[in-house]
Amino acid sequence: MNQISSVSSLVRPGASKKEAASVEFRNVTKRYGNVTAVDSVSFTIDPGQLVTLLGPSGCGKTTTLRMIAGLEMASEGQILIGGRDVTNLSAADRDVSMVFQSYALFPHMSVLENVSYGPTVQGIAKKEAQAMAMEKLSLVGLSGLEKRAPSELSGGQQQRVAVARALVLEPQVLLFDEPLSNLDAKLRRRVREDIRELQQSLNLTVAYVTHDQEEALAVSDRIIVMSNARIAQTGTPRELYEEPADLFVADFIGDANIIDGTLLEVAGAQARVQIGGLSLDLPHRSAKPGPVKLAVRPDAILLGEGTSQAGAIAGLVKKASYLGTLVEYDVESPIGDLFVVQYGRKEPIPLGTPVSISFAPQRGVAIIPGA
Ligand code: ATP
Repeated sequence: MNQISSVSSLVRPGASKKEAASVEFRNVTKRYGNVTAVDSVSFTIDPGQLVTLLGPSGCGKTTTLRMIAGLEMASEGQILIGGRDVTNLSAADRDVSMVFQSYALFPHMSVLENVSYGPTVQGIAKKEAQAMAMEKLSLVGLSGLEKRAPSELSGGQQQRVAVARALVLEPQVLLFDEPLSNLDAKLRRRVREDIRELQQSLNLTVAYVTHDQEEALAVSDRIIVMSNARIAQTGTPRELYEEPADLFVADFIGDANIIDGTLLEVAGAQARVQIGGLSLDLPHRSAKPGPVKLAVRPDAILLGEGTSQAGAIAGLVKKASYLGTLVEYDVESPIGDLFVVQYGRKEPIPLGTPVSISFAPQRGVAIIPGA
């Protein structure tokens, strides 16, 4: 059992004094000279939800997070927290805490001093501030380490001190800026589960920045995908994966084969689409008859050994990688080179084997609207 979740049962019902608040951006723009870092962005984070801002480097996600915190001021638009207009309020006047990528712990202070610093600065008596800090340290599984210096802790423990410090004033909104980037791969998975569990057990409103799509899929209630200072798509992890709004999102969220097809006819909500001689019935997603692009997930492509299957597309295995729980293939075919994943298979299909290709639409074949 991980350390934060093992203590989350200690959270007393109603222990959090404040109600979770919503966060709303209304046509918010941020310019730095000639650079538009965030371009007329609107979204709402509902109270008690964890929403991830996801996108490639430079897309504007950190600037968006810093505008929630009040560490950057909007050039245009309106920002509301808990329905209150905070657009022109400084960071100190917003009830928001941030966990930084670097953790930003004070190296010369003990763990307890780091966590009790915020309440002390707010004028709370030292004893009470320390009691508040001890409670939050217990919540993140660090009881017993309060006298140590940050340099005497592991990376994962330092991260939890940063979380305890952000939680100590029980902010209305908690912000995470790439919180896992200093941790190794195994720890990253555990800490992201810890953060998610804590967020849910305390009913916190969280905005979380990452460029790692797997991390975003794992922790989020909703994801805001950003591209070039704008929102490309907002949705639940499942919506983004199964119904990508455009080529960028299809490619960015999970692996996708982008395949050309022809939409033959629309009947109700379904469309008949032809791919290399095969016909599939798919949700039409407002696409019109004619050429369409499809996002096909790697496990939605089925490979049969041999070329004998009627109606299937003929392909050739060019590469096979055995990865334990799955096998990855590169397959050459008349509809393009395909990336295919098979789960639960013991022996990979050997290189150079002719295969017949078909599709399992329920595992992820989507028309990309407007592409
Ligand atoms: P990363 O993942 O690399 O941190 P990001 O998506 O968080 O990227 P931002 O840091 O929000 O992106 O930056 C968005 C754009 O604004 C970039 O083009 C960046 O160069 C620019 N930018 C950010 N901060 C400043 C600043 N203080 N002055 C000038 N330009 C800035």
